[in-house]
Amino acid sequence: PSIVRGAAAEIPQVSWEDIGGLHEVKKRLQQAVEWPIKHADAFTRLGLRPSRGVLLHGPPGCCKTTLAKAAAHAAQATLLSLSGAELYSMYVGEGEALLRDTFRRARLSAPSIIFFDEADAIAARRGVGEGGGARGSSENDTSVGEKLLSTLLTEIDGLELAQGVLVLAATNRPQAIDAALMRPGRFDSVLYVPPPDFESRLEVLHVHTRHMQLSDDVDLEEVAENTECFTGAELAGLCREAAIAALRESLEADTVCKRHFSSARNGIQPTLTPLQIA
Ligand code: ATP
Repeated sequence: PSIVRGAAAEIPQVSWEDIGGLHEVKKRLQQAVEWPIKHADAFTRLGLRPSRGVLLHGPPGCCKTTLAKAAAHAAQATLLSLSGAELYSMYVGEGEALLRDTFRRARLSAPSIIFFDEADAIAARRGVGEGGGARGSSENDTSVGEKLLSTLLTEIDGLELAQGVLVLAATNRPQAIDAALMRPGRFDSVLYVPPPDFESRLEVLHVHTRHMQLSDDVDLEEVAENTECFTGAELAGLCREAAIAALRESLEADTVCKRHFSSARNGIQPTLTPLQIA
């Protein structure tokens, strides 16, 4: 028997406070995810139909996965994660089975959120034939993608009757997403998750140094100024590297100093370019 990988299902421990910046996105997610689950009766009272899907898009490392976790935590919903790339790489039929099984488990554990990462791997516009090569035979790639996509569409449409299940999809390539997914009643909201600006970088730095003792010579504003083009993930990495630099000096170290941040900064090259963050 083949191994069918099930999506991990749990209520994540991440909260909104663990996310720096992105205030508008957080607010929109609270409305689209938290409200329909926590205040379902108010939606019914006003005849509001909750969203079935939200598409998050933006560059890698800018918090999409973490936002999904925080939204699930805030709504006290079970989070089931799926990766489009992983589904695409599975044997024919197995990916469809995993998709259906994940939706079934989501309905059973409602309120729940299905986080669908790298959505473009299976939800790419039909006919674009992105390939990917994972399944070897490029001839079949389009039809394989189409089968997964039509299974996904069927499952999303099936959510009409099931209360309290929402799909959060993430992609770095929103323009590649098939238009069928964007019809009303499917992914009703599309939210851009931008790379952090100065203020947001400062907030992200505060989040990731919360549990660190910083020496008086550390000026996080200055660090934020010197980290233009950094993603949230790179800022988190910078803080970790600074603490490791302190430990490298002495395993007895209990504070992280400016020089540690400088040495960590020198070791990290941002992956985004100014054009990408403009
Ligand atoms: P990918 O597209 O590569 O999957 P992503 O957009 O889903 O990336 P995350 O996985 O959420 O990004 O972010 C990676 C890590 O970076 C997180 O674990 C978190 O520690 C940190 N991070 C990113 N953005 C932020 C932020 N705004 N505030 C706090 N931490 C952040």
